[in-house]
Amino acid sequence: MKMNTMNNVITSTGSVRCRGVSKVWGDGTADELVAVDNVDLDVAPGEFLVMLGPSGCGKSTLLSMVAGLEQPTAGTIEADGQPVTDPGPDRCMIFQQSSLYPWLSVADNVGFGLRLRGTAKTRRREVAQQLLRTMGLGDMLDKHPDQLSGGMRQRVAIARALAMEPRVLLMDEPFAALDVQTRSKLQDFIGQVKRDSGASVMFVTHSIDEAIALADRIVVFTARPGRIKASVTVDLTRPRDPRSPEYHRLNDHLIDLMRDEVDRAFAQQEGSIS
Ligand code: ADP
Ligand code: MG
Repeated sequence: MKMNTMNNVITSTGSVRCRGVSKVWGDGTADELVAVDNVDLDVAPGEFLVMLGPSGCGKSTLLSMVAGLEQPTAGTIEADGQPVTDPGPDRCMIFQQSSLYPWLSVADNVGFGLRLRGTAKTRRREVAQQLLRTMGLGDMLDKHPDQLSGGMRQRVAIARALAMEPRVLLMDEPFAALDVQTRSKLQDFIGQVKRDSGASVMFVTHSIDEAIALADRIVVFTARPGRIKASVTVDLTRPRDPRSPEYHRLNDHLIDLMRDEVDRAFAQQEGSIS
């Protein structure tokens, strides 16, 4: 555990280790489908790992197994050296569409998990206040979700996850439903949150730009069945400048890695329609 002196939020970093992880949906049935195939993947403590791959390649499936929401058909997943068998507060998942409780205030949404944990009301409000202030939502504590924009709601969902002091943040295309400007703001913001909290992040996207904006390392997946095609360390200085030659080189490299996979994924989808 490390105490963050800037905003006084206690956080800690975690590691994830996947070995030979596969997921077959409908195993043994006529609809059998191999979604993830024999994936070895490590996430170092404090690392921001982006999982990049075409639609339908098994990214969400892999993430939900790390979350403990689904079990692998084969292989093992460990978080901080412990086998993952169930969802746990050490691994918080954030989805594209956040599901805040509409009848609760923003502060109570952020403090919801803490309430289940038995944290006192005054402390819950304190934590919510700290987190929401960091996220530029310091004035929103007593509002309700329907009074917020999509980008604000997504920030509240992230604050709610951070309130649980997760060691690993699992983010499944969390900004995909937002407009370009809001998305870019939230990318800056999540980078900051990650640096402040020290949590590890596994972040799924199909956007090369988003991957380069955020990642310490990008793992590119093949079309289904999802396998790891390449692991690319991003050593560009932050914030990343889309106009720099290094950015262009990396972008071109990722486009090359993705091109065949996107074509294959598209062919698979067409095949399944006809
Ligand atoms: P991605 O997140 O990369 O777009 P997913 O992990 O959602 O891909 O899906 C991978 C494949 O597994 C797809 O072909 C999808 O239709 C299938 N799939 C996902 N979830 C389920 C499920 N619960 N039951 C059966 N098939 C599923
Ligand atoms: Mg997905």
